[in-house]
Amino acid sequence: MRIDIITTLPRLIKSPFSDSILKRAQVRGIATVNIVDLRPYSTNKHKTTDDYAFGGGAGMVMMIEPIDNCIEDLKSKRAYDEIIYMSPDGQLFNQAVANELSLKKNLIILCGHYKGVDERVREHLITREISIGDYVLSGGELAAAVVSDAIIRLIPGVLSDETSALTDSFQDDLIAPPVYTRPAEYKGWKVPDILLSGHELRINEWRHEKSLERTRERRPDLLKKHD
Ligand code: SAH
Repeated sequence: MRIDIITTLPRLIKSPFSDSILKRAQVRGIATVNIVDLRPYSTNKHKTTDDYAFGGGAGMVMMIEPIDNCIEDLKSKRAYDEIIYMSPDGQLFNQAVANELSLKKNLIILCGHYKGVDERVREHLITREISIGDYVLSGGELAAAVVSDAIIRLIPGVLSDETSALTDSFQDDLIAPPVYTRPAEYKGWKVPDILLSGHELRINEWRHEKSLERTRERRPDLLKKHD
């Protein structure tokens, strides 16, 4: 998979991809994250990418021309499955959307800034809009990093234990069961006996029971989907 992230602030988004699981995915050649600086695609002499809003009002608007130039340049090199604009009024991101996007080959993610992008970008240049929650960030970069992280870790071969993404919360609409590691007792706080029993079948049953219990307690809305 390849993700091209278009931004006016490349430095802001580099670091999440330079460590740990997301770095390993790239080193192994499973995923490529390419940060594309929008500024060189501006045709004006100061290389600006934003301008005042028509009709007045506070806040700058990102211009269509540099974004169009940039997307056209990327599209001339390969075909893209989706061109995503990060937007607080887009489709709410969740595990199901992450699963779906993890099966794609090439994605573009466009990060907005200031007041957002010229509406014509949304009407004509992109295929999809995604929000990471009902709050407003100052730019799309952190949102793009969240979406990319959630997608990339699902690609087979990225997590060392292949099954581990499948047992995460929200897969199967269940919350993950509690986990423990050494020591078996700390300050008198004990790990449940069953986990030390070595009885794999019963451990799996216990985990499933805890998943259900947790989902009932914390996210009953997820269980309703099973009805
Ligand atoms: N004026 C816009 C907000 C612009 S915020 C509005 O009221 O809807 C600036 C940029 O940050 C947006 O263009 C978008 O790319 C990004 N952004 C802000 N909040 C976001 C969210 N919840 N999810 C995804 N992207 C977001």
